[in-house]
Formats: sequence, structure tokens, C-alpha cells
Amino acid sequence: MEKVVIVGTGCAGLTAALYTARANLRPLVLTGKQPGGLLTTTSVVENYPGFPEGIDGYELMVRMQKQAERFGARVQFGTLEAVDLSRQPFSLTVDGERVEAETLLIATGASHRHLGLESEEKLENKGVTYCATCDGALPRFRNQPLVVVGGGDSACEEATYLTRFGSAIYLVHRRDKLRASKIMAERTLAHDKIKPVWDSAVTEVLGINQQKVTGVRLKNLKTGAESTLDAAGVFVAIGHIPNTQLFKGMLDMDEHGYIIPKQGTATNVPGVFVAGDCADRVYRQAVTAAGMGCAAAIDAERFLAARNE
Ligand SMILES: Cc1cc2nc3c(=O)[nH]c(=O)nc-3n(C[C@H](O)[C@H](O)[C@H](O)COP(=O)(O)OP(=O)(O)OC[C@H]3O[C@@H](n4cnc5c(N)ncnc54)[C@H](O)[C@@H]3O)c2cc1C
Repeated sequence: MEKVVIVGTGCAGLTAALYTARANLRPLVLTGKQPGGLLTTTSVVENYPGFPEGIDGYELMVRMQKQAERFGARVQFGTLEAVDLSRQPFSLTVDGERVEAETLLIATGASHRHLGLESEEKLENKGVTYCATCDGALPRFRNQPLVVVGGGDSACEEATYLTRFGSAIYLVHRRDKLRASKIMAERTLAHDKIKPVWDSAVTEVLGINQQKVTGVRLKNLKTGAESTLDAAGVFVAIGHIPNTQLFKGMLDMDEHGYIIPKQGTATNVPGVFVAGDCADRVYRQAVTAAGMGCAAAIDAERFLAARNE
């Protein structure tokens, strides 16, 4: 019987692992298919406190894991496949094996929606990115034309944020008006650096030979006409998919599938806690995920202490 099982080894899961390990709970920590989480896919992280020169995303996550293991966290390469939260202890299926747990800490993150283009995949981290807050300030994007793909609130936020760095921001959207809230759409379109490209889809990211984004090929969805646009960066902002499908029908979620935390990091099932991007559709940053992982660990520890009183 495990006291604490943590699902996920991104910033949220590994911070929760550090805290529960230091509380002598010897957490079992499941890596899932992406050990170290999303941050391992980026080269330099410049906004995680404590690293004035920035730190490689992979290295940061290796350090987080080592720090948690130093205090007794047991990190296991494994994926949670099924879960029964209807009775205590919770019953988990991990790579076909049954595991019982007194508390469950969910830190499964959220995946970015991709455009689905081969060129997008090849140029990821070479100018194609999914997070303006994370990457917008990088030197390669400064004073350069940039493309943002999308038409919702996130795309507007990304485009507005990028006006601080880019020379012009082309907002490419499939329709002829933005899906974002009225106030956000008006503010975005009023900005003199933001240029909407309506009724259009990116069909190719250009620059594979140069190993860096040099532009995009566009298709007008109404006329079928093709064109190209020079750009040093492509910011894809067409939404996220929280990795919470396993818990559907068991845990309260919003309409997008984000788990809704209550009173800190608790959920509607006592003993189940949640942290990081799978429960946060607003901030989605390494440091906010880590902060929530810390909170979830403390909440789980207090839950166990109260039960054993
Ligand atoms: C390219 C890129 C660059 C970024 N740069 C920055 C940056 O510079 N600064 C910043 O603050 N943020 C950055 N971010 C955002 C940051 O990576 C996320 O906010 C952060 O990783 C969220 O942490 P998390 O622990 O919630 O989830 P994640 O890091 O997504 O980790 C989720 C974990 O859950 C595991 N998992 C999922 N399902 C299961 C399952 N069924 N069983 C077991 N395990 C499972 C996964 O394998 C993974 O280990 C960037 C994101 C990307 C994509």
C-alpha cells in the first residue's frame, strides 16, 4: 500500500515528490511517457528563479528528480492506465500492475495542440514554439516579423505579448473574425504592430534547409490562393488538451477538461489532489506548476496526518 502516488514528473510532480519525500512519505512517482515533462523539450529556460544565466530544460528536470530522490522519492518509469477512485484505498493500474494508494496526486500536465505539419515538427525549437511567455524574449525573435496562429483569447494574449519583441505580428486565423472575447479582440486588433491575416491556414513552415524558421506558406481558405510570409518565429496558439481523460466522470472538470481544484489543491474526491498544468488553464508556467506541486504535497500530507490522528 502506497501512502502517496504522484502521477507525472514535470515541475508539479517532481516538486510534490520533493515535499512528500522530505515528509517521510516515500512517494511513488510515475513518469508517464515523458519523464521530466514538457520542459525537457525546450533548450533554455530563462524565467525559472535561481538561474540568472538560464538553464537547459532537460538539465533542470534531471536536477529536480535528483533532489526528490535524495530524500527518498521512488521515481518509476510507468504510466497510469486506469484508476478506481470510488473507494479507499484507491486502485491504480500502472503498466498492467495493480497499485493501491491512500492518496493520489495528479500532475499529468497539458499537451499543446499542434498544427499537424511535418515542417512544424522539424522546426520545433528552431523558431516554432507553443508559448510566447516562455520563448518570446529569446534573441532570435527580437525585431523580427513573427506569426501567431489562432484566433482565441490565448492567441490574442500571445500576439499582444509578442509586440514587445517582434517588429510585426501576423495573426493568422481560419475565420474572418476572432473567437476571443470582445474586449480582448478589440484590444488586439487596435495594436498597430498586429496585422490579422483572415480566412487563412498555415500549410507549411519554411526554413528546413536553413534549420530555422524563415517564414510560412499560407492558404486562403475562401479563395484557395497560396502565399508566403517572411517570419523568424511561428507561435502556435490553437489550444491545449489537459491530460485528464483517465479521470473523466470521477473528478470535477471544466468544459475543457481541466480538473477543478477546491480549497487549495483538493478535488471532489477526498485524498485526491491536483497540481500543475492539468488544473491550470491560465498561467501554465514551470514555476506556477512547481508552486502548486508544493501546495498539493502539503495538502496530501495534512490529509494523511488528519486521518491517522
Ligand atoms: C517548448 C516549451 C517551452 C517552455 N518553456 C517554458 C519556460 O521557458 N518557462 C516556463 O515557466 N514554462 C515553460 N514551458 C511551460 C512548462 O513546460 C509547463 O508549464 C510545465 O512543464 C508544467 O508542468 P507540469 O508538471 O504541470 O506538467 P508537464 O511538464 O506537462 O508534465 C506532465 C507529466 O505527466 C506525465 N503523465 C501524463 N499522463 C500520465 C499518465 N497517464 N501516467 C503517468 N504519467 C503521466 C508526463 O509523462 C509528464 O511527466 C514551456 C513549455 C513548452 C512546451
